[in-house]
This record gives sequence, C-alpha cells and structure tokens, in this order.
Amino acid sequence: MQTPYVGRFAPSPSGPLHFGSLVAALGSYLRARSQGGKWLVRIEDIDPPRETADAANKILHTLTAYGLEWDEEILYQSHRVDAYQDKINQLLTQDKAYYCQCSRKQIQAMGGSYDGRCGRLKTPPRKGAIRIRNSIAIDHFQDQHMGKISTDTTFAGEDFIIKRSDGLYAYQLAVVMDDAYQGITEVVRGCDLLNPTCRQASLFNLFEYPTPLWLHLPLVCHAPGMKLSKQNHAQALDTRQPQSSLNAALAFLGQPMIQKHTDIRIMLAQAVIQFDLKAIPKHAEIILSN
Ligand SMILES: [Zn+2]
Repeated sequence: MQTPYVGRFAPSPSGPLHFGSLVAALGSYLRARSQGGKWLVRIEDIDPPRETADAANKILHTLTAYGLEWDEEILYQSHRVDAYQDKINQLLTQDKAYYCQCSRKQIQAMGGSYDGRCGRLKTPPRKGAIRIRNSIAIDHFQDQHMGKISTDTTFAGEDFIIKRSDGLYAYQLAVVMDDAYQGITEVVRGCDLLNPTCRQASLFNLFEYPTPLWLHLPLVCHAPGMKLSKQNHAQALDTRQPQSSLNAALAFLGQPMIQKHTDIRIMLAQAVIQFDLKAIPKHAEIILSN
C-alpha cells in the first residue's frame, strides 16, 4: 500500500501573510487535498530577530479566513529546540559535525565555499558555528513539477552550517528534522527554496530519514527577480473578503477561477476538484503593481 500523502505549509512569523504566501499555502493545500491527503501547518519561529509580535496568530487567522483548514496540531519550531540540540550533540559525538570559527573573510579567501579545514584539525575548536560533514553531497533532485534541478557541485559538497555561532539553529537542520518528524511525504513551496533543497536532501540521507518528494511553485514578484516578501512590505491580505484574492491566487497557479460564494470553503472545495498540477506555470513570475 502507498504511504498516505502528508503535505504542509510552513510560514515564518515575520509579518502578516501576503499574496505570495497565499499562493504557497493554497498550492500546497490544493495538492494535498486533491491527493486525499493531510495538510499540516508548521510555524517556523526559530529566528527571533526576524519575527514580529503576534504574527503567528495573524497568519493562522488569515489561513482560517481563507478556509485553509489544517489537520492535527500546529507544530511550532520554537518548541523543538531540545530535539535540534540533541541531534547536534549526537552528531558532534559521532564526529559527523564539527565546530568552525572561520570568518566570512576567510571563507571568501577560500573562493566563497567552505573547504572543510576545521574538520581536519587534530584539535578542532570547541565553540563557534557547527558544520555538518557533508559526506553525501547531493547536487540534483527530481522536482515533481519543474523536473530535474541541479545545483553547483561545490555548493552541494560544502560542509554547511547547521547551527550558527550566535546559537540559532540553521533553517536546513530544522526543516529536515521537522519534515521527518511530521511524516511529510511531499514538500510544496515557492521556488525561492529550490537551491537549498539539495542540502536538505543531503541531510535526509545523512540522518537516514525517508526523503520526501519536492514540488516547487512559481514565485510572486514585485519586479522581475524581486520576490514579494514580508520584508519588502508586501500588503497584508484582506481577511474579510477573501474571495477575490483566492481567485487571483488560483489564476496565478494557472487554475480556473471559481464562481464567488460567500462561503469560502465551498469555493475551495471546487478548487480542489478542479486542481490540475500540469496547469501551474513553470518558472513564472508576475509583476504586481503597488
Ligand atoms: Zn572553519
């Protein structure tokens, strides 16, 4: 029997949801529901300097207003730091990770990619950033929508950071551990995360976790190449009249628009029935005027 589908949406609480994040949430929701699968929500709140007060609650309120109802309890990454630290300790003990104190300047002098020198020291540093011994360097993966995605082999083979010198856990470590913890079978997200996917694939292999499938969606941009983000003050979504934004997000994903209905859940149910993965544009960007 096939493993049941489990998808997820994993926003970081750095501001309210905007149109770009609605597209990512909706894309992952439609994919999961059209497969008869579960759709989970995870709040990636392990970077306090970038977070704003109450943003997580606002995000959840917006998802609810758009009828995007999740299964199971929400997972907050801030509640998972003990698990991350246990993993780090285990990796250090097994010599699968090591401390590094090299500066940005030193890494630039290495040609911009870390050459693993601290990992070869007889007496390695006892503090600093922590790097994984990337012995299973993966330089490509098969995207469920975009096809084969390759990355630079030097980048792929780098011993990358899994815990920063300021004590924050790296996104790559947390996302891989949590996708495994939540039993995610397919990750659907924006293609700004295409490049780090190979690193995540390496970690899934190194940790001997089942590797999920990946499916990347086109990004919504302000201007060519400029991603719409909370940092560049993309407008918050209208939670009182979500029908128009929902249709705009469907249109962006190449899906047919749905006749407006006061009950947004009826519109969403129709969108699930009509969902066609192949209709989603590849590498597309739209330019939003402010
Ligand atoms: Zn170093």
